[in-house]
Amino acid sequence: MSTNTGQFTVGSAWENCRQRKEVNNFNSGVWHKEVPFLTWRAIHVSTEDRIAIFGIEIDPNCHCCNNNSQNATIENVDHLFCLGEHAKKIWRFFVGPLGIDYNNMNLKMLLLKWWNFKARNCIAKLITRILPLIICWELWKSRCSKKFENIRTSFHKTKTNILFTLVQILNNRFGRARIGDDWKSICLACEALIEQRISKIFKWIKPPPQTVKLNSDESCIQGMCGCEGLVRNMQGIVIFAYSIPLGPGTSNFAEAAAMLFGIKWCAANG
Ligand SMILES: [Zn+2]
Repeated sequence: MSTNTGQFTVGSAWENCRQRKEVNNFNSGVWHKEVPFLTWRAIHVSTEDRIAIFGIEIDPNCHCCNNNSQNATIENVDHLFCLGEHAKKIWRFFVGPLGIDYNNMNLKMLLLKWWNFKARNCIAKLITRILPLIICWELWKSRCSKKFENIRTSFHKTKTNILFTLVQILNNRFGRARIGDDWKSICLACEALIEQRISKIFKWIKPPPQTVKLNSDESCIQGMCGCEGLVRNMQGIVIFAYSIPLGPGTSNFAEAAAMLFGIKWCAANG
């Protein structure tokens, strides 16, 4: 039960006795670092149908719809998060512009629909991962508000709360992108083609002792080109610099001319 270094740790013991299962994509999607609430709870919450299993008396009406005695529905996960009146209104509002199907699906199917959505850019990718989780959280909050405080949360209030949380996360992640704080602007941002810039760090390394280093480059605009270069010694100090207009030519010609001029100077100066 020891590690590669020969030391015993609780982790090494756990790895030894655990049975590792295959990664479950659904469970991976339920947990998201940007939405560290609800997630797993959304599919394991204590809805009335689950409480009833223990023989506890439950409210026969769900807490999310404007039920009357004729169409009373015992609350369950799928009704609360997808099929209930309140949930359907919320999903309809958010999936509409994105074109994601939501009708007659259970929670698992609905979440997978969102997560498998082909996002056009990084904003859409993040939204389709986290928005369903935020929606579930707000639906659960509105259900608890009705059950425990007898306060019914309006469609407008739930929608506003969802957007508020979403905008906070988007601003933290894409602050400079100025996505906007209404759903219409956010949907437009999901459609935008966003240039992904990749930064790389380059480092200039000093030449070995008793040698110099030549760095040269070219510039070519509308068929007219020029070249330039620097020669540095082993301390990194510039000992020669040049900039030469070359007239008509190509980039490759100017690149070669820049290097040739520098090499000739180095050869001539030992
Ligand atoms: Zn309901």
